[in-house]
Amino acid sequence: LEVERAVAQVEAPAGSKVKISNRDRIIFPESNITKGQLADYYATVAAIMLPWVGSRPMSLVRCPQGRGKKCFFQKHDAGSFGDTVRHVGIMEKDGHEEPYLFIDTADGLLTCVQMGTIEFHGWGSRIEDVEKADRLVFDLDPDEGLDFEAVRKAAFHFRDILKSIGLETFPMVTGGKGVHVIAPLVPKAEWPEVKDFAHRLALAVAQSDPENFTAALPKIQRKGRIFVDYLRNQRGATAVMPYGVRARENAPVAVPITWKEMESIDAPNHFHIGDAAELVRRAGSKALSGWGRADQVLPDL
Ligand code: ATP
Ligand code: MN
Ligand code: MN
Repeated sequence: LEVERAVAQVEAPAGSKVKISNRDRIIFPESNITKGQLADYYATVAAIMLPWVGSRPMSLVRCPQGRGKKCFFQKHDAGSFGDTVRHVGIMEKDGHEEPYLFIDTADGLLTCVQMGTIEFHGWGSRIEDVEKADRLVFDLDPDEGLDFEAVRKAAFHFRDILKSIGLETFPMVTGGKGVHVIAPLVPKAEWPEVKDFAHRLALAVAQSDPENFTAALPKIQRKGRIFVDYLRNQRGATAVMPYGVRARENAPVAVPITWKEMESIDAPNHFHIGDAAELVRRAGSKALSGWGRADQVLPDL
């Protein structure tokens, strides 16, 4: 109910040409949040979201009938979104090209919402050169039953290790269960090198603290531990974008935070779409203005 009330107060900025149909369709049934309210959220945060989304190949989680019904992960599009959503051809492993989509305007975001999109996921590289990573993401995935304190500790552990090898990092709560620790990179190293780096770092952490971490893929080995999902750092892998909504209970949002805030934030799904105005205000604050920006390259490992 508290979420419902907050969401009702989000006012979209005027000016979009994108027509949202079925504004009253309920997309988040547990809190009666509608498609119109989801669109208003994205219209409000577009200006702070686009610097991260813009010119990145994107995948979408679309749930046209709402989050409780069938959702699908969409990677390719040949043009069904019209001309506000743009396309870039990317070579697949088998050597043929597929049309990926990218978004560089608020109208592009809203067109995706009109088409039933809830979540926006982006590659770790930009369309100018998709082979070169512009960020590393350590996706920390806690096993069921671990509390957020364990995730918080893990995030600081990664911050410290990456710092010790010369990489500055920035945390993001995902709106789900975990945290992404993100190291921006000047696009230089290509995916095989980036993946190898992330894998070796994840293994080193898991080996030095096997009680708390694992980098092993089989679920059984994750029992009671934080899984370091280093596979976000390979060609074609995506991560949820800053300020993106999640198709989970009460419309939580992935939000960039400071390391200071990480000390006290209560949960990775702390923010929801009713916080739109607050998110815009925060993003302009001094503490967050440098978030996600650092001129750095992959060090030797
Ligand atoms: P949480 O904090 O709950 O783990 P998350 O966004 O990190 O939230 P993960 O399940 O760890 O969720 O997934 C990490 C990333 O993998 C996602 O952000 C997304 O970009 C990508 N991903 C998730 N589901 C799919 C899917 N079905 N197909 C392809 N990629 C996916
Ligand atoms: Mn995760
Ligand atoms: Mn993961």
